[in-house]
Parts: sequence; C-alpha cells; structure tokens
Amino acid sequence: MTRLTCLMTLALLATACTEGTGTDPDDPDNTAGESTYEPVEGTTNLTNCSGTIASDAPSFFTEFWACADISNASGGVQVSTDGLPPHQSAYYATDHENYVAFDTRGGTHRVNPNTLGSQNISFTFPDDPTPKGITITDAIVDNEMMTSDEEYSGGPVGIALNGVSIFAAMAAPGDDLWEEQYTFDLYEGHPAGTTYHYHFETPGPLEVLQHKGWSTSSTPGQGDVELYGLMCDGTVVLGCTELDGSAPDDGDFDAQNGHLHDIDDGSTTHFENRYHTHVCPDEWPDYPFFPEIAYYQTTTCR
Ligand SMILES: [Zn+2]
Ligand SMILES: [Zn+2]
Repeated sequence: MTRLTCLMTLALLATACTEGTGTDPDDPDNTAGESTYEPVEGTTNLTNCSGTIASDAPSFFTEFWACADISNASGGVQVSTDGLPPHQSAYYATDHENYVAFDTRGGTHRVNPNTLGSQNISFTFPDDPTPKGITITDAIVDNEMMTSDEEYSGGPVGIALNGVSIFAAMAAPGDDLWEEQYTFDLYEGHPAGTTYHYHFETPGPLEVLQHKGWSTSSTPGQGDVELYGLMCDGTVVLGCTELDGSAPDDGDFDAQNGHLHDIDDGSTTHFENRYHTHVCPDEWPDYPFFPEIAYYQTTTCR
C-alpha cells in the first residue's frame, strides 16, 4: 500500500513537472535565443555585477532584470540597487575599471563635472497600482520640474533593468533637458551629484535583454524587444516594441507616448491593462524621453 501511494505520488509529480515546463520562467523556449551580449573584459558588467533575484519573484523580474536585489514584498516587488552602471562610463572615477574617456561625439557633447558613486535606492513596485484618473495632455507634459502636481519628483523615480536609476523627463527649473542630453555618455546617462541615471533611450537596459536572449541588439531602435524599466508608481517603460516584439499601436498614445493594454511577452501576460510608455525617438521624435507624469498614485514612490 505504501509503495503504491509512493508510485502514485511520483506519477503525479512527473505529470506536474511535464505540464510545468511550458510556463517555467527558465524555459529557453520563452526567450528569443542565445545570449549575444559581449562584456568588455576587466570591467564590472552584466555577468559579474552584484544582485540577487529571488527565484520566487514574478517572472517579469527573473526573466528581464539583472544587477539588483529583487524579492517579493507586501503589495509588490522590492527592487534595491546600488545604481552603479554595469557598463563603461566617463562618469566613473578615473581609477575605476569601468572608466573610459568622455566621447564628445564630434563636438556635440561635453562632460559634466560630477563623478558617479554608489547609491542606496529601493522601490516596492506595486502589484496593483491605483490610477489617479488623469488624462496626460500636452498641457502638463513640458519636461520642466515643478510645473504640475502630477509629475514625478526629482531624483530617482524608477529603476532600469540593469539596476541604474531612472529620473523623470525633467530638468531643474531654469535648465533644459533637451540641452542636458549633451552631457550624456555613450550609454545616454549622466550623474546628478553622484547619482548616475538615464532620461531616455539607452543601450544599458537593452543589453540585459541581449544578455538574457530576448533580443539580438542593444542599439536603441533595433532591438527585437525593447524594455527599459519600471517607474516607482508601476508605470512600465518600453521602447520601440511591445514586450512580445510587435510594433506599438500609437493611435491611443497620450502626450508622453503612454497607453494601456496587457503586457505580454508572447507566452506570459506579466501585467493586465497596465499603463506604459514607449520611448522611440526614431518613430515618435516629439516625445523622446522617459515619462514625466505619474499615471498611478505615487504612494509607492518615496
Ligand atoms: Zn539628468
Ligand atoms: Zn504599448
């Protein structure tokens, strides 16, 4: 009798295992293929950066993220990071292994005086964010700080797939974000104080997709799939594609290229009817930045 039960249990387990493989987040069938990411030797990069992603975290995080500590938390998923870019930058201290000389790109770009350093950034991205019920129009999207109650605050308000801070698409009062972009390094980031961050399309997070086999290119605009990260209120930031690689339908875009629909990678729906924006200046040059206005309530922001 005992032996029969045991065999039956094994049979049940075997069935469960077989049925489980289709939705196993580690199933290579879920990804675009082999990694084409090539780290620069001797640097801190996606293959050796620090960060632990809990195996029971939602598959959106186990599949698409790197270089951060990620675990389930009350009401959401906590992502904590030191914010250090896992790629080369002219904003590292000159004695850091990831330091490279600033590239002026033929004279259009100039280095800012800051040096990046380690941060202590943590957000609990909400599982079920609450919409504010606003409509995001040109009247409130102006890329300037302190011009609307609905905008994100200054400083880190999101995290990119590679653990780097995302700042909202705003310059400090009196400054111009369209001008500030000329201090971006080759990964389109720069530091405010010591906090390195991105404002718009960047190869950094796209390299994670390449590393994990979702995409064969980290050049913005050329990825098979383009996902950049999450804003603190739960807004997802995508690039020129939806998460399944298809072309976004811009028919219902708001003033920051945002709209709502399920976010699906082709086999798994990660978010239902979730607000997200598309950053893709080749396609939508009028609004090339990450979001400025928080669609959801920002109680999870800081
Ligand atoms: Zn900035
Ligand atoms: Zn979309």
